[in-house]
Amino acid sequence: MTDYSKEQKALLRKFRSETIGPQDIDKFLTFLIHEKHSSEPLHNDWLDLWNKYRETAYKYFPDDYLKRADEIISAISPFDPNIDNIKLTDAARVTFLIGAGASKPSGIPTVNELLPEMWNRAKKIRRDDLDKLAEWCQVRGITNIEDLLTAAYISNFSAANPNVTSLIDYFLFARSRERIEEGRMTHRRHLGSFEVDVSSISFLQDTLQILFGLLTSTMISAQPNQAHNAIVDFIRHHKKCSIVTTNYDGCMDEAILRAEIPINDYMYGDQDEAIQGALSLIKMHGSINWAYCDSCQYIIRFDLLKLKKLYEDDELSYPVVGICKNCGGLRRPLLVPPLAFKFLMFPNLIYVWNKARRSIENSELIIVVGYSFSEADTYITKILLRSMSINDNQKIIVVDTNPDLVPLLIDRYTAQIEGFDEARVMKVVGPCDAYLGDLLHSLTTQEPLFEMSEAS
Ligand SMILES: [Zn+2]
Repeated sequence: MTDYSKEQKALLRKFRSETIGPQDIDKFLTFLIHEKHSSEPLHNDWLDLWNKYRETAYKYFPDDYLKRADEIISAISPFDPNIDNIKLTDAARVTFLIGAGASKPSGIPTVNELLPEMWNRAKKIRRDDLDKLAEWCQVRGITNIEDLLTAAYISNFSAANPNVTSLIDYFLFARSRERIEEGRMTHRRHLGSFEVDVSSISFLQDTLQILFGLLTSTMISAQPNQAHNAIVDFIRHHKKCSIVTTNYDGCMDEAILRAEIPINDYMYGDQDEAIQGALSLIKMHGSINWAYCDSCQYIIRFDLLKLKKLYEDDELSYPVVGICKNCGGLRRPLLVPPLAFKFLMFPNLIYVWNKARRSIENSELIIVVGYSFSEADTYITKILLRSMSINDNQKIIVVDTNPDLVPLLIDRYTAQIEGFDEARVMKVVGPCDAYLGDLLHSLTTQEPLFEMSEAS
């Protein structure tokens, strides 16, 4: 493992955690320019840390001095030097954990971009009810699609279970009801009756269906990008791979299918059906080409490439695909929208989730691509934490534009795993479509990524 000097480690700690004054910057510049930078590698956190304090530095120190610092910093590799110490044997299992950041270069909106994007598309549909919903969200500053869909699902669930509705009402509004009964407050709320407004619930069903349609239409035409293709190239050389993804778009699937690699997706749950030697592609949040029947629970997988072609040729007839062939019930896309209560709402996916957990726990190396460790995915965070604590030698490489993810993971693991070696978590800072190829090429060929800067 690359060892950084005590001095560099102390400087890193200070710059990461505190407000930095001119004195600290001076210490850093002295370290960088006059002392040891040529005898030890510079941590790639400096790329980001220097950006944060650069402007302050220019207020206090001479320009030519700082230009020298800029040169040295810009020569730092975006790849963690410890990556070069990974010697992947053919037997080592590798799991890719892929999130929305991997689909972004394919033009798919991220969670934060989804709601505004959907309201834009909704305008074109010109429906009064959707416009009202959009206005409700805008007035109240609701910008997260996760909140909207979570509320929609809870309402849908409560509508079918009147006792639940009644209890929610009790828990949330008991205090105001007491006050009303005491006559201290007047309220137009219709007390004592928990009847659900049937028209608003059928509107909700309809809205959900349209929101899903909008969501799917933002994704179905997207093409695999260089990150997806780099993963496929790697898989051809390294057989012991699986992919766990929270994306329901078809980009990863398409890249694999076009390379004629068979896929096991475990959506039917039954392991017996798994194709021997096929690649596990575990789509934790479902997939745009999966659907399930609300009435008989029948699950169906449409051929992704065919479906895509039908959509592009405008030959899909939704009223037909939306009806279950078995029982005539209503079919819904089997995709978990960004939603806080995933486990409660999608029991069909429990087998898939277990499969993801086993795959992560059995891996020597986990390569995280564009996955943001969002609050809504606490179960993935927990799987990783457990896996890192039971496998002393397991390593994680995070490829992401956000440089703060790795320090966050290191803090978390250091706090929860005794004697945690922080060199087990490595980062590549930058866009995955630009850097993943180089990373995977180096892991396959053992050609070093990192050349120590010779700047002097
Ligand atoms: Zn059915």
